[in-house]
Amino acid sequence: MNKIEHIGIAVKDLALSNTIFEDILGTPSYKTEIVESEGVSTTFFQVGPNKIELLEATREDSPIAKFIEKRGEGIHHIAFAVDNIEQEIERLQSKGYRLINEVPKKGADKKRIAFLHPKSSNGVLIELCQDEQ
Ligand code: ZN
Repeated sequence: MNKIEHIGIAVKDLALSNTIFEDILGTPSYKTEIVESEGVSTTFFQVGPNKIELLEATREDSPIAKFIEKRGEGIHHIAFAVDNIEQEIERLQSKGYRLINEVPKKGADKKRIAFLHPKSSNGVLIELCQDEQ
């Protein structure tokens, strides 16, 4: 795995949170994107070499809606950049880690992504992401 690609934060009200994070980070979000397959609306902020992703549910059965219902707003996942996502999935599976996505899927921000099951990783939801070629 390479660097932390971004940190995902689950929010109830994306418009309100955009204002808050714009204030805190001193920069507006550079991108808004709806990922219908995930039931999320997202915005991205660039902070130096790092990114913050805000995620709002677009429907009740969205994983973000379920997360907020159970744990409230807050840090939802940490995403790591990888060069070869299939290889990383295989490597982790061979060590017995459970993946939510055994096959990479299309994520926001031109990435192919896969999530590890948080039960495998101390309750931390980890996203692997590779730039789409
Ligand atoms: Zn993410």
